[in-house]
Amino acid sequence: MTAPAAVPQPGDHHAQLRRSVLEAYRWCLGCKLEHPESAFVGERGQKVNRCAMCRAKLRARPRPVHDPAATRRAYLRQKYGITVEEYDALREAQSHQCAICGTHEDDIQVPRVGRPRKDGTPAAEAAKLVVDHCHASGRVRGLLCNGCNSAIGHFRDSTEVMRAAIRYLSPEA
Ligand SMILES: [Zn+2]
Ligand SMILES: [Zn+2]
Repeated sequence: MTAPAAVPQPGDHHAQLRRSVLEAYRWCLGCKLEHPESAFVGERGQKVNRCAMCRAKLRARPRPVHDPAATRRAYLRQKYGITVEEYDALREAQSHQCAICGTHEDDIQVPRVGRPRKDGTPAAEAAKLVVDHCHASGRVRGLLCNGCNSAIGHFRDSTEVMRAAIRYLSPEA
């Protein structure tokens, strides 16, 4: 009872040893086996959840071929319910210009989307004219530049609010 708490007691040493042995092994998320801690260090020294063997297997697996055209087709279909052909027809009809401000798509700067690809192919270029659709009906109204698209969104798609904004901005109104 006189020994301070910080001094290790005889039994503690073995408990500590057992614990350090246990801690030196970890379960792999991939193969569900125990491996030494050293198997869970990534190339950049970071901690990883899969053992070296599982990570090698993951690296070796064939990657799906990246096809920006297919990605775009799926995006337009899923998000707006239109085909690439319908998008292009709209684009032609609008002479490749924003349906509100008339900015030509050649004058619109867009960043590449997504991370640079490991296989060296460039990431898909974001569409310069975005699809504007009625949020209530889902109907596609037209193609807009990003600025006009977010502007009508900020006006909550309300012609009333937009008219109020025009009145507000008009000195003689
Ligand atoms: Zn593993
Ligand atoms: Zn515009």
